[in-house]
Amino acid sequence: MITPNPAIDARPVKEGKMHSSNEMIIHSELLSRIPPIRSGVSTRCGGVSREPLGLNLSYNVGDDPSKVTQNRERFFGALNIPIDRLAIPYQIHSAAIRRAENPGRYESCDALVTNIPELFLAVSIADCLPILLYDPVARAIAAVHSGWRGSKEKVLLKAIETLRKEFGSCPKDLVAFIGPAAGECCYEVGKEVAKEFPTECVVQEQGRKPRLDLKFFNKNILLESGVDEQRIEVSPLCTICTPAILHSYRRDGHSSGRMMGVIGIVP
Ligand SMILES: [Zn+2]
Repeated sequence: MITPNPAIDARPVKEGKMHSSNEMIIHSELLSRIPPIRSGVSTRCGGVSREPLGLNLSYNVGDDPSKVTQNRERFFGALNIPIDRLAIPYQIHSAAIRRAENPGRYESCDALVTNIPELFLAVSIADCLPILLYDPVARAIAAVHSGWRGSKEKVLLKAIETLRKEFGSCPKDLVAFIGPAAGECCYEVGKEVAKEFPTECVVQEQGRKPRLDLKFFNKNILLESGVDEQRIEVSPLCTICTPAILHSYRRDGHSSGRMMGVIGIVP
């Protein structure tokens, strides 16, 4: 059977689908249905680093580098992604985007785009949102890191614009996964930060600091750009209140490890 491109299987994803403990990968249900895409977000389970680092994938948090390498081999190995095919931004909480042509580190940016098969884009997170985009028509992808600063600068919107400029991508064709991140249940911010966002993205409750809903904010960016709601999946998982499986900088501070969200096109 031939599936006409760009049609994808956009049946609704199951609401509130939770992740079973001890698995090292969170899959997007939508992206998993698209054969040329290989993607996933790591958890803190199944690693070799001392707790609470577990499956820490960052070399910048004081973890033993040989353990980080083993963790990366485990996670990317389980996804059948060669480590030497990774393109990784050196993130600075900005809206800077770069086009990846080769594996390696990309300085001072928070999103990468590419249309090169078997080049895997990976962003590092622990509360900030990992956002993975795929355009099945232009055959292009993006990986975006967006915390409150990146969201305020609309890094996701700039990534969508970059996909259009570089590859002729149309927002209506995009498939998007907003992965696990600090949720509106827990993500308290100061008044100064809260007022940078629309009121519908801020939860105000008597006796508590304002809480930001960055998943909602970024989902709205997708919708306003023209992405079909059927093609958007938002992980219900909150990093802060899911300590069994997710790293959270807000919760664990300097002892927190980092997870990664990765996406690539395979022939
Ligand atoms: Zn929470």
